[in-house]
Amino acid sequence: MRKIWQGVAASPGVSVGKILWYREQELKYQHTFVENTALEIERYRQAQNQFCSYTEEQAQLAASDVGDAQAEIIRTHVALARDPYLVGQIEGRIAANQCAEAAIEAACGSFMALLSESQSELIRQRASDVWDVQNSMLRLLLHVPEKDLSSAEPGTVLVADEISPSVTVRIDPKRIIGIITRKGGPMSHSAILARALEIPAVLGVTELPKEVDTEGLPIIVDGYLGQAMVEPNPWELSVYIKKQAAGLRYRNELKKFATRETRTADGRRFHLAVNVGGPEEAMRMASYRPEGIGLLRSEFVYMSQLDFPGEEVQLDAYRRTIMVAGGAPTVIRTLDIGGDKALPYLKLENEENPFLGYRGIRFSLGDLDVFRTQLRAILRSSIYGPVSVMLPFVTSIEEVRAAKEQLALAKEELKSTGTEFREDISLGIMIETAAAVIMADRLAKEVDFFSIGTNDLTQYMLSVDRGNAQVAERYSYCDPALLRAVKWAVEKGKAAGIRVGVCGEAASDPLLTPVFLALKADRLSVSPGAVLPVRREISLWTMEEANQLTEKVFSLSTEKEVRALLEQERRG
Ligand code: PEP
Ligand code: MG
Repeated sequence: MRKIWQGVAASPGVSVGKILWYREQELKYQHTFVENTALEIERYRQAQNQFCSYTEEQAQLAASDVGDAQAEIIRTHVALARDPYLVGQIEGRIAANQCAEAAIEAACGSFMALLSESQSELIRQRASDVWDVQNSMLRLLLHVPEKDLSSAEPGTVLVADEISPSVTVRIDPKRIIGIITRKGGPMSHSAILARALEIPAVLGVTELPKEVDTEGLPIIVDGYLGQAMVEPNPWELSVYIKKQAAGLRYRNELKKFATRETRTADGRRFHLAVNVGGPEEAMRMASYRPEGIGLLRSEFVYMSQLDFPGEEVQLDAYRRTIMVAGGAPTVIRTLDIGGDKALPYLKLENEENPFLGYRGIRFSLGDLDVFRTQLRAILRSSIYGPVSVMLPFVTSIEEVRAAKEQLALAKEELKSTGTEFREDISLGIMIETAAAVIMADRLAKEVDFFSIGTNDLTQYMLSVDRGNAQVAERYSYCDPALLRAVKWAVEKGKAAGIRVGVCGEAASDPLLTPVFLALKADRLSVSPGAVLPVRREISLWTMEEANQLTEKVFSLSTEKEVRALLEQERRG
């Protein structure tokens, strides 16, 4: 009987296959009182070492089979298993006479509880990585082998409560063509891996039945709609088989653009960079050859720690990202916390309007130690490749000047200890507030570049909360008010002779590509999945055509008119 399972779209694409339920074996053990705690600690350490060397091996295999990004994700599990805080908690519990299994479960449990309390989706999702490490170590201590997936039939759709990254890396995309889970969201590592493997995935299907009564049934996975259809009717099947084939053709067509330069149809070279949330994502993108990292959201390095990360931890994360960029420019945005982004260890006061509150550069200028630690780490990373610093959520000239003072101080601090860095590091700002747009001519005199953040700019220009579903319909990049603001900022920046790019999601939408071409933005920095579609769209426009269309766009007065025109003219 036909059923629809609704979840969240975690990896795009559609597939038509047969269900295979994946159930983890239960890991049962007796809680025992341990007399010889030294021996038990040794037993735990052996399991930990075994886990780390096995996982490292898996990472190497993943690197050669499916890419460095997957390898990097698995390596984060090694780092987790060796995390001094977690190890201390586990060994402390064993020293207090708990058996290794109970100590691991209790220590990981409280770590997961801490992460799950976070307001940030990204941090909450990290709890599943801890869960994965915990189970792998328990399996080693209890001698329970992992379930074999290598013999799954080609055309299998894996259905499970949760698929941990350690399972995801054992998935062969030639056999497993879809993933459906009860738990997990679009930010989970499993989702990231599914996207990297290009397997359509629907996660967070809360109504997934507990019993495995659907084994072997035909199923459609729609990774765009976040929906799966069990036992589809013949009409649905034929529609989706066609969609699957068309999707495959489109993906193959897009792949051709991975090795091409970004050029318009009349040959104008264009700088197409990528927005990333850390080295893992940067690595995943390397094969698409973006022309730089236009936005490194440095929050990732703060969110994955239990306290503010020190200079060395940050330097390591920035250095790894810069190395992936391989000589292309990397823009590191300073901490953009506040608004909808929180840190588990930072108790900020509750704000009635967090998006208008203590956020981004305001936070950094309110905690100069944290800010200068970050600036020193960024400065030090500059010896590994071309790096710039970018300030988020700027609303005034004073903020820019105060940040410049801190940058100068950070340089002095490094000089006084003889630490190497590049003196000529450039400084830019996000143009993502109404104040920054209207003051763009003055701000342009203070900095080396602008990057227009349309995600926030849309919410501030249109007074529409970017996360509020009730007003989501009003949140649109096609609104003439937003487009006028973008045009104004580009023109003021260019008139002052500085570089102007666009890094919000609007840049990732091929619908708006001709508009950004015509406005002569120097750079588009797009989300990872958009590099190839946007490069392809750019290749389909001459500058003359883009100019003509954009002139018409700016003659229109409503969002609907703009969208209709752009949709009608869309090439890709
Ligand atoms: C933006 O606001 O457009 C942007 C790129 O930053 P974030 O989405 O991280 O706020
Ligand atoms: Mg922003």
